[in-house]
Amino acid sequence: YIKALLKANIYLDDNQAEAVIHSNGALLVLAGAGSGKTRVLTARTAYLLTEQKVQANRIMLVTFTAKAAAEMKTRLLNYPNVSKSQINGLVTGTFHSIFYRILAYHYPEKWNSKRLLNIEWQRRQILKDAGRELDLEEKEFAYDAALQQIGYWKNSLVTPEQVKTETSWDEKVLFLYERYENFKKEKALFDFDDMLIGCYQLFQEEPLLLERYQNRFDYFLIDEFQDVNKVQYELIKLLSDKKKNVCVVGDDDQSIYAFRGSDPQYIRYFERDFPKADVVLLSENYRSSHSIVEAANKIIAQNKQRRPKQMHAQFTNNYAPVLFFPEDEEEEATMIITDIREKIASGADPGDFAILFRTNTASRAVFERLTTSSLPFKIDQDIDSFYERFIIKSMLSFLKLSLNEDDQHAIANILPTLFLKQTVLTDLKAESILNDCTLLECIGRIKTNFSFQEKKLKKAVPIIRSLTAKTPLAAIEKIEKELGFQEFLKKRGNEGNQWDKGSDDIRDLKVAAKNFTSIHEFLEHADHMAAMNKEMKQQSKQRKNAVTLSTIHRAKGLEYKIVYVIGTVDGSIPHDYALDSLRAGDSEPLEEERRLLYVAVTRAQEKLFLSVPQNRRGKKASPSRFLTSIRY
Ligand code: ATP
Ligand code: MG
Repeated sequence: YIKALLKANIYLDDNQAEAVIHSNGALLVLAGAGSGKTRVLTARTAYLLTEQKVQANRIMLVTFTAKAAAEMKTRLLNYPNVSKSQINGLVTGTFHSIFYRILAYHYPEKWNSKRLLNIEWQRRQILKDAGRELDLEEKEFAYDAALQQIGYWKNSLVTPEQVKTETSWDEKVLFLYERYENFKKEKALFDFDDMLIGCYQLFQEEPLLLERYQNRFDYFLIDEFQDVNKVQYELIKLLSDKKKNVCVVGDDDQSIYAFRGSDPQYIRYFERDFPKADVVLLSENYRSSHSIVEAANKIIAQNKQRRPKQMHAQFTNNYAPVLFFPEDEEEEATMIITDIREKIASGADPGDFAILFRTNTASRAVFERLTTSSLPFKIDQDIDSFYERFIIKSMLSFLKLSLNEDDQHAIANILPTLFLKQTVLTDLKAESILNDCTLLECIGRIKTNFSFQEKKLKKAVPIIRSLTAKTPLAAIEKIEKELGFQEFLKKRGNEGNQWDKGSDDIRDLKVAAKNFTSIHEFLEHADHMAAMNKEMKQQSKQRKNAVTLSTIHRAKGLEYKIVYVIGTVDGSIPHDYALDSLRAGDSEPLEEERRLLYVAVTRAQEKLFLSVPQNRRGKKASPSRFLTSIRY
């Protein structure tokens, strides 16, 4: 079979071949990035279909994203004798899509897609409604972080009854978790996590059905196994229990979804739960040039929690990874885009390039430069506009009010920052009609139970009015200092959101504001960028030959000729929260951050650029501590 593949120009090395034609039983393929794990999985699927004559619908092939599944199907077409109808017959997709199909098939009423709760703000709203019972002021509590925590529990198969709370934050989220689950039950709704949990429960409750599925599938193949979580792992274990024909491929060094309950430990559990599993190690890297592989090896070697493994590059076209040191985020964006332009002018395709970043917000400057550059580019659907972030919107609303004292949206947005409830808005509107004054003026006349607060509100009016004469940057600084914005952020930060701190957003905003001299221009720019974000997302769906703008998380499994990693400084990669954890004695988050950089670096085939801005968020930055191992 391997020879037949060779004739079709599909080359496999000995270790890869061993995994592809492995006989029945459990198989674990463990190997570094770019070593052909996904290729092995594709080739093995083809092998099972054509050589072993396995019926397509008896094979379950799980990928990490829907895009990866589509990609694999296209690849399969190149394999000898694989027919289109076989490819279509495969049970393939993400865990969610596959198990949802099973549920919907058996219980179409209950699992009707109309009942799917998949819109973020709707889910957040359920929590907010519940949060009112705890007097959690709508916009001060980090509901996004709470949703994430709930997802973590669910994917770890931890029911509300089983949650162990350690902090008051945990207690609050647990309360919300209970309410959230009850709400869904009452309204017969379900969310994405329920698709897997529901299937797991179904198989537990109905042994006959479980047996049917155990008989129905002969082979299980799973890509990116290092990122499975508990419920996914248990499902595969249940279904494969009879035949144990499970082939999983993964790389413990690329486990980067701990916040969703992924854990590279499952690789170890696999060897425990499938004791006769064969293990194949791949050590050749077919993706990246020698010096990129070397840099990746050096970075990841610093992690303690890993299996030591080495990768050898097959390619030697040697461009050493390049570190560059822009002044700040703005110059970083300019340098990258200038470089891309030059390379395209000398023959490169836009599709050769990817710009990778640690968090969504880090992409602001690059996004802005790209929109005005006429280069074709694409962004992920989950990259929201920087200017739509809650904290940013609140801050910009002060600026808006200075230009239009009757802007209702702006008033609504600043209420929480002045520690006022949304219900105040109705009173303000009535006041403004009765007394024929602007909404802003009415803010200064609000009566509260606290005279210090009344004084503050009265003072706020002239302060906001005085903003118009200032530059956007000076205006933002004044709001921060004189309108209690910092106190507001502090209170919000104390509600447990370690992932995105509002104060960081404001620092980012100040960097952006520096480019503008008038508030009016800056606000116009913000509106335009928010609109462009929506439009670009729409266009991205069709764009093929375009520069990719992506988080590192989203780029997993993919490859690009030329990769730029932005913000390789402490606080970004590794993220601040990991540094905080380290100070508190927990080094695991730092190791996950190192894995993230490893994933980023190993996406590059020919050239790798690591950007190390000297200043980030308006402050001096130090190069990422992960770089010390590769600087020569
Ligand atoms: P990741 O860990 O990033 O998911 P991977 O281990 O899945 O990487 P693949 O994506 O399967 O690696 O392969 C990396 C690149 O190397 C692909 O372009 C693939 O086509 C190529 N490749 C894999 N094996 C070989 C081989 N034996 N000969 C030539 N090219 C190969
Ligand atoms: Mg892969």
